[in-house]
Amino acid sequence: MNNLIEESLKKLKQKNINNPELDIRILLKYASKKKNEIVLSNLNIDNIDIVKFKSYLQKRINRQPIAKIINNKSFWKNDFYVNNYVLDPRPETELIIEEALKIYRNKNLKLKILDIGTGSGCIAISLAKEFKNASITAIDISKEALEVAEINLKIHNCDNQIQLKMIDFKNISSKFDLIVSNPPYLTNEQFNNADPEVKNFEPKLALVGGDDGLKFFREYSNNLKNLMNKNAHFICEIGNKQKQDCKEIFENSGLYLNKIINDLQGIERILSFSKI
Ligand code: GLN
Repeated sequence: MNNLIEESLKKLKQKNINNPELDIRILLKYASKKKNEIVLSNLNIDNIDIVKFKSYLQKRINRQPIAKIINNKSFWKNDFYVNNYVLDPRPETELIIEEALKIYRNKNLKLKILDIGTGSGCIAISLAKEFKNASITAIDISKEALEVAEINLKIHNCDNQIQLKMIDFKNISSKFDLIVSNPPYLTNEQFNNADPEVKNFEPKLALVGGDDGLKFFREYSNNLKNLMNKNAHFICEIGNKQKQDCKEIFENSGLYLNKIINDLQGIERILSFSKI
């Protein structure tokens, strides 16, 4: 194997980075003049911009997540632009899209959808691509996050289906058929103990839901029902061991918990409610 690769692998391993081979392959691909897939055992080093690769590697050594280095993360069926102002889309969040597709089997419905705390816009855009006749309002309180969502809307040609708004959820007054959200739900303590990739490179605003992590669920529950049409659904991501609290919070405000969906690690991750 090439010396550069060996040295780089060693450096990442010293930092206890989980999948060093994979990370190096991705960084090489993005530093490659040809952008083709990289096979480490058979690398043509002449195709690599070494200065670029070394600067990427240094970022990874400093525990910057790959997605933030290459400004790209895949989610559901598409790639999204990401930076430090948004959460990297995570695979467990794709379960929200899967659940929406199970609830609404007819993809041609003219659904009115609200995405609370849209961040990169990955949920809203994925839903727009699945439900071509849906009209979606995607809101966030972070101006910088909305700029990222705007870039993604342009990339995916969703401008006429999705309306981005800088507004607090409390100030929304129209009614929707489907409300989705991946709110901040970590406790302060969980955030403080999070991996450096999360703690140092992702927005705290998008991660922490107060001391017990439940702050936003409580806020939502106050007027969520007023924003839901008859037969509307609410699909929401939750943190580890928050199911019981969330069930109580939302059932006290007139929603009914239909379904609990586990992520790949077996953690209860997505709650699907309907209005009763
Ligand atoms: N699952 C994320 C994490 O552990 C948290 C996402 C969120 O707060 N919505 O980093």
